[in-house]
Amino acid sequence: MTADYWPPKERLAQLPTPMHRLARFDQSLDARLWLKRDDLTGFVLSGNKVRKLEYVLAYAKRLGVTRIITCGGVQSNHCRATAFACAQLGLACHLVLRDTQGRNAGGNFLLDQMAGADCSIYSVKEYTGGLSKFMSHWAGINEAKGEVVLEVPTGASDGLGIWGYAAAAFELIEDFQREGIAPQVVACATGSGGTQAGLALGFALAGYEVDLVGYAVCDDAAYFDRKVAADIADWQRRNPDVCLQAPLRYRTVDAYVGAGYAKPGEADLALALEMARTEGVLLDPVYTGKAFHGFITDVQNGMAPNADVVFVHTGGGFGVFPYVGEFERQWSER
Ligand SMILES: *Cc1c(COP(=O)(O)O)cnc(C)c1O
Repeated sequence: MTADYWPPKERLAQLPTPMHRLARFDQSLDARLWLKRDDLTGFVLSGNKVRKLEYVLAYAKRLGVTRIITCGGVQSNHCRATAFACAQLGLACHLVLRDTQGRNAGGNFLLDQMAGADCSIYSVKEYTGGLSKFMSHWAGINEAKGEVVLEVPTGASDGLGIWGYAAAAFELIEDFQREGIAPQVVACATGSGGTQAGLALGFALAGYEVDLVGYAVCDDAAYFDRKVAADIADWQRRNPDVCLQAPLRYRTVDAYVGAGYAKPGEADLALALEMARTEGVLLDPVYTGKAFHGFITDVQNGMAPNADVVFVHTGGGFGVFPYVGEFERQWSER
């Protein structure tokens, strides 16, 4: 982190986050399992998005921006973190949201409104076809009122936001050195690709070689391989003079997407319950429950025999509340 290429950031996240072993849970595995606790980056700002927003919002402030417009599902963790980060920095916030039929109440959406964000909800069909049109529509309306607006992409995943996870890779390397481990695999959930792109970038900037695996929670591996490459290419365009010290190394596993985004399977929910009960760690149904289930299954199937492996817990805790019915069924069926 001493290199002088790091852009300025707003200090929003509680860093460094802890990394610790899951010694009860990993008894049944042929590997030593570590958890990087990015669910502990804050309370209202908790999860992975705040690391990206530290760089995005510092950039916004330098530009004299008065309002952020961003987008996601109604229960988006990214939108909730943006709404609260904007409130903390005195910026206005407008959220363009995709209807999540039947799960629009409570959870992150309640918090968005408490933080004073303007919210516009569109049907899945409208949103899929018209997102960029809606973003510029709301930007235009507010610019006409004299505001300076910055549009932030889904998940703050672009060549600016991924600085946050590049920095997290350096933090992880310090964690590995402190614990005296050289992990074979670092895994995370992948939803808009920025966390995976940033980690790949950071390890390459540091010259650290490790198998970085993103577990897709939607779309497919080909989509994310393209998206991660595009985010890193965008970063390279913005930072033409910064040299990588090792080749970029990342891959995506899409075998555990199941029924699709925000549609957890029974096994994802059961594993979330097991983690809560054996380790006191809260996984969410949309991202970390699904990704952790995929990762653990691969480890059980011999992905990294007798090695240290690390799962980056990207947060999402408020996302359990819209799934109260599914969780209640988990224990009533036991
Ligand atoms: C957004 C999100 C992810 C995915 O991160 P991306 O950088 O969008 O790929 C993973 N976990 C949680 C809890 C998230 O909110």
